[in-house]
Amino acid sequence: MTSEKKIPKLEFTEERITSLVEKLVDDDTLIVTDLYGFPALSHLGRTALVRDCYAESVEEIKRGNEYSKVLAVGGCTALDVGRACAVGKEVVTIPTILSTSCISVDRSIIKYPEGSRLEKTIAPTRTIVSIPSISETHIADLEKWSQSGFGDLFANISASIDLQYKAGNSSYEAVRENVPECFEALEWVINQFNGYDEDCLRRLATYSHNSSLIVIEREDTKLSAAGEHKLYHKMIDQQKQYREDRPTHGQLVALGTLLAGRIYAEQTGEQKLYEQLVTAYAKLGLPLSYAELHDIGIEREHIVDGLESIAESNTHLGDHFAQRDYSLLDRVFGGGENETV
Ligand SMILES: [Zn+2]
Repeated sequence: MTSEKKIPKLEFTEERITSLVEKLVDDDTLIVTDLYGFPALSHLGRTALVRDCYAESVEEIKRGNEYSKVLAVGGCTALDVGRACAVGKEVVTIPTILSTSCISVDRSIIKYPEGSRLEKTIAPTRTIVSIPSISETHIADLEKWSQSGFGDLFANISASIDLQYKAGNSSYEAVRENVPECFEALEWVINQFNGYDEDCLRRLATYSHNSSLIVIEREDTKLSAAGEHKLYHKMIDQQKQYREDRPTHGQLVALGTLLAGRIYAEQTGEQKLYEQLVTAYAKLGLPLSYAELHDIGIEREHIVDGLESIAESNTHLGDHFAQRDYSLLDRVFGGGENETV
């Protein structure tokens, strides 16, 4: 049996997640879900509760259950663990929030005592998005997680800048050509975004799903994660007070992408990309100033500490700060207004 390179299918349903799971579950299925999903799903079949993505927790779930199919229901961690428990088997993912662009990837973040690793696990056969269930999320949470999803999605742009920087061709067209759909998402936000309504959720799910497919097709994450994700990992390691929801994954990653966009503008003289990011961030409510960063728990020194530790990371973002000159931060976040280049 080859489990490699199966392309997951994205489906939308008007059913709520509980009745969807009820239909999909059978004696051979293990439901893998988090604290939010557990109360409603645990009586429907054999269910494993996910509290973290430690390798040990994954092993515990695998040892304690017999199954050939996994239904992974929840946020990113539940989906990560669900895919990790399904290696050599089959998995269907049902995201309850759209907080990261990893809903359909064939990888999982797994934690070890020495740190987190992104590991190859297995792609879902189907990713099913229940618009009614996601829409029912409390509006503040819906906005926070969906904003995070867009923030994570735009990391494709920073990653593409990184790739072209290393290839020695940083034209706007070349950067765009690697990740055209991400630029479409950016332009959709700029021109059409009007709040986190149903149309927005469908688009975000579709963009995130398709961004996952790039990872499966390329067999690497070079177009979805570069310096901005390295910065994210350093910052959450260094700032122990950060919680999963404040600042969100997408807010932190978006910060690095904005810096990468600014560096790109200053290096190439091409301002359009940076201006597009600023306009899209303003519409989505992603932070653009020190004051807005402060509101979500991020201070300038956190960013400086993070950047300092990625200076040798051999990335477009890290290289810029190799001289320990952080004045670019003030040109991006300083004074409240975003100055032009
Ligand atoms: Zn991410």
